[in-house]
Amino acid sequence: MKASLSNEPVVPSGVQCEQCGFTQSDFKKHGRFGCPQCYQTFSGVIEPMLSSMHKGTAHTGKVPLRALNRKSLNEKLSKLEGELDDAIKSERYEDAARFRDEILQVKQAFEPKPAGGV
Ligand SMILES: [Zn+2]
Repeated sequence: MKASLSNEPVVPSGVQCEQCGFTQSDFKKHGRFGCPQCYQTFSGVIEPMLSSMHKGTAHTGKVPLRALNRKSLNEKLSKLEGELDDAIKSERYEDAARFRDEILQVKQAFEPKPAGGV
């Protein structure tokens, strides 16, 4: 039996982002990720590459929201939605507004805007 060309994702360099299909060679070519999930997918692979690419650029250790994986984002989102609900019920509208903003940020991290242009 031959492997199907269309259904099974081809993984040329061993790792492929299941979210956007980026591979390690795509990352090397473009020098950037295709989506937030990529960071999770390639973190083990690209860390040595990153340290050689960004010599002198120290890692702060703070993980940006976009770099969180979907599970963490989902957990954060449902937690925030619970907090928002509580805040509205107890008429803490300033808190509610803050939670709503955070929820928006998390949702934007789910769906990154294209950088624009070609
Ligand atoms: Zn990706």
